[in-house]
Amino acid sequence: MNYENLDYNRARWNRMLLNGFWSILIITFFLECLYLLTVAGIARTTFITEYIVRPTIILLGILLSAETGIKLLRGKYQDYIMIITSAMLSAAIVYIHDTINYLLLALFLPVMVSIFYFHMRKLVFAFCVTIITLYTLYAVQPAMHAYLTAVSLTTISIMFLLFSLIAGGVLMRGRELMVNLQTSFESNRDLLVKNVWMDKLSKTDALTDLYNHITFHEFFERLIEQHDCNQVPVQLALIDIDNFKQINDTYGHRAGDAVLTRVAETIRANVNANAFVARYGGEEFAVLFTDSTFQEAYEAVESIRNHVSRLPHEQLGGRAVTVSIGIGDYARNEGKEHFFHLVDEALYEAKHTGKNKTVVPSKEAIQASQLA
Ligand code: GH3
Ligand code: MG
Ligand code: MG
Repeated sequence: MNYENLDYNRARWNRMLLNGFWSILIITFFLECLYLLTVAGIARTTFITEYIVRPTIILLGILLSAETGIKLLRGKYQDYIMIITSAMLSAAIVYIHDTINYLLLALFLPVMVSIFYFHMRKLVFAFCVTIITLYTLYAVQPAMHAYLTAVSLTTISIMFLLFSLIAGGVLMRGRELMVNLQTSFESNRDLLVKNVWMDKLSKTDALTDLYNHITFHEFFERLIEQHDCNQVPVQLALIDIDNFKQINDTYGHRAGDAVLTRVAETIRANVNANAFVARYGGEEFAVLFTDSTFQEAYEAVESIRNHVSRLPHEQLGGRAVTVSIGIGDYARNEGKEHFFHLVDEALYEAKHTGKNKTVVPSKEAIQASQLA
């Protein structure tokens, strides 16, 4: 698993934590001012210097050091600075208010902060810092001994340990969820790639990489609908290799396949990017022109025919093949079937009048089909 994700947005989260620490300073300041109103048994000036000015300066010093540290250091070091800052803040608060025993809970702050990083090592580090802070305070602040016996110190340590173990459990569960999320993300991505691949396979012909018969008809249908609504130009050309059976019989099926591939390449190379080229049948191709005039489409297929007839094939001992072509221009509301039939008839005529030629449906053929 890629744990780099855990560092995602680190700087933003550390900034938010640091802002939280600044609010601790502000809250402490206001709470102390509130206490000042009710203070008894201690001189007001002493209270102000001891419990307002002194802690504010100390906390300010800690926070400014943290701000500098976070600017100077990058990466995981920033996280450790935040943990240490939280320990120093809580230690200062506990130290100054040495008679308020419940403030000891504040010492758990570093562990709480470490949870943000979802990193076991940082949690262990924070726990150690908490324990060290607790025992150091106990050693340097005799006033704490008044409410903290050795037994209660041990109890608090065990309590901190138990809370840290729970925090560890939260981290482990978080990581488990992350692994799960990543696995499902990866399998979704694989599925998406597979779908795109399957989609391509189902739409194209494996030998020539052109669109297949079904896709041709789907596109043809949509194009005709569009033409009937918006008069988008549509020309259809049907291209059939001449005497292909004989080529197969003479040079073998493999040679035939090589010829098919090269004829497909020649067709693609001679039409513009907006033309739709499909392998319509065994040795038949169809081209739909979508942004050409009839003249341009006609010139394109003539160019295909000429190129094919001059293309020598190694597999045929240097021989070239020829193609016959039928091409037509779609007339509005003519209907897909009718249009296709006319172009197919033109191809048929090209075959029966010598092959290696391009035929356009004659006016008579168009009129006859309209009367029918
Ligand atoms: P015409 O000039 O009238 O078109 O004659 P033809 O021989 O080209 O046409 P016919 O329909 O008689 O034969 C087509 C041949 O195409 C028969 C078939 O074996 C061959 N064929 C169809 N698909 C493939 C293919 O994928 N690879 C190869 N090598 N041959 C194929
Ligand atoms: Mg043929
Ligand atoms: Mg054929």
